[in-house]
Amino acid sequence: MNLLTAAWIPIQNQGIYEKITLQQLLCGEKEGDIYLPRDDMELACLQLLSAITQTLFTPENKKALGKYVNQPLTPEVYQAAVQDKLNWFDLDHPETPFMQFRGVKSTDATPMNKLMAGVADGTNKTFVNPQGLIEGLCHGCVAIALFNAANNCPSMGGGFKGSLRGSTPITLLIKGKTPRETIWLNVLTEETITSIMPWYETTKDQVPNYLTPINKGDTIQASAIGLLRGLLWQPAHFELLQATSEQQRCSCCGCNEPVYTGFNKEKFSYTIEGVWPHPLSSRIFTIKAGNKEEKFPSFTTNAPTWTHMSRLVVDQQSDKGGQQAAPVIKQARKFIASAKMQLIVGGYRNNQATILERRHDLFSLAQGWTEHVEVIQQIIQNGLAYKTALRKALYLFAVGIKDKVNGSGVNLCDPVEAIYYQQTESLMQKSLAQVHFEAPEDDLDALQQQLKSIVKELFNQATTPYRQEPKMLKALAMARRSLQKYLKDLEPQGEENE
Ligand SMILES: [Zn+2]
Repeated sequence: MNLLTAAWIPIQNQGIYEKITLQQLLCGEKEGDIYLPRDDMELACLQLLSAITQTLFTPENKKALGKYVNQPLTPEVYQAAVQDKLNWFDLDHPETPFMQFRGVKSTDATPMNKLMAGVADGTNKTFVNPQGLIEGLCHGCVAIALFNAANNCPSMGGGFKGSLRGSTPITLLIKGKTPRETIWLNVLTEETITSIMPWYETTKDQVPNYLTPINKGDTIQASAIGLLRGLLWQPAHFELLQATSEQQRCSCCGCNEPVYTGFNKEKFSYTIEGVWPHPLSSRIFTIKAGNKEEKFPSFTTNAPTWTHMSRLVVDQQSDKGGQQAAPVIKQARKFIASAKMQLIVGGYRNNQATILERRHDLFSLAQGWTEHVEVIQQIIQNGLAYKTALRKALYLFAVGIKDKVNGSGVNLCDPVEAIYYQQTESLMQKSLAQVHFEAPEDDLDALQQQLKSIVKELFNQATTPYRQEPKMLKALAMARRSLQKYLKDLEPQGEENE
């Protein structure tokens, strides 16, 4: 199955589900939304489509990219572009299968579960898969799963390398009106690439590492890895077992096709020095003793995605460190500055090889955000500050004040914080999508008032059961007074009134 010619892209249009080819998608011959039962697979599918499209067409500059976004390709242009890349994307190629290596040695084959993030972890309750475990995957789903495992998932354990971005990076895609537009908006121009990857020009003819493999134990500089080689980097040595000859139901998309039921994997270690600037990731860095340490943000706690927004889209730098927005965002700031921008943000939260949670959120940023990123920071700071006020008051209720007020001994901080995040999620998303970036004062005030009433309400709800406990009354009264003070301190005019 060749990803450049076969019909493998699952789309849905007005309730009708079908698989189409990349040519049909890029030439505008078929339209619909990417559709798969798992949102992480949908995200990985879009990510893979952008990577393939980047491989086939790297626009020179903003103008050339604009043309691709606005006009579907002609079949002739598509056909001409794929000819010399066919051997990069053939899943069953005799020598260079897509994202695999031939001759991988393992005593037992690994079942397909292991290729799908979170399915075989056992401990994971959020990943109930409707069809049970993954028995077999069709061509399209297995290609997406291979790409997802190589780019977005923790490694298979000791002796296996993870992705160029570390174990579970946050991935960010710009969303267009159609999948075709989305794909192009996440393709970088040569202009953009040269600015983030000064080594682009000298490495642009590199091929993927599953075509020209590295050696075991090699040390590779990140700055020696070209754009396409990095986008299609396969960190691990995997080889799919041959697909079944008869048709079976795919455990992911549900189609009836020959399926892949397992793969061989082999330990393979090497060292990458430095950080490869992935187009779909922001980077955070700290400066210690003059040395810059960079890494990719990931979801490390259960705090919702909006709490990460600032470091995903805003550039910042100080003596101690800072953050750099994802290259696609940097490019989009110039490209769609005059319009609202929609973002897809996704990733996993893990504990080593175990996936605890997966995220897939859609964010909009109102028009004008590129000139007023400080407003994004204010919105997020507000959301976090009210959460902190609530936590601090509940903490006082639990522990009291030494030698003065006995605490209740009931610590409500974590469960109430979780409810706070649930209840403010859509409010925070709406604020980012609708704020008037040019003159945000009224919107910010309104947001604060809403956050304040949510905090008061949650405090009351959480402490109501303890109002009848005489031993806790003092702690409750003290916590309530403290909450009022914390909330007052957050008011915009708080200082003036005092
Ligand atoms: Zn499938």
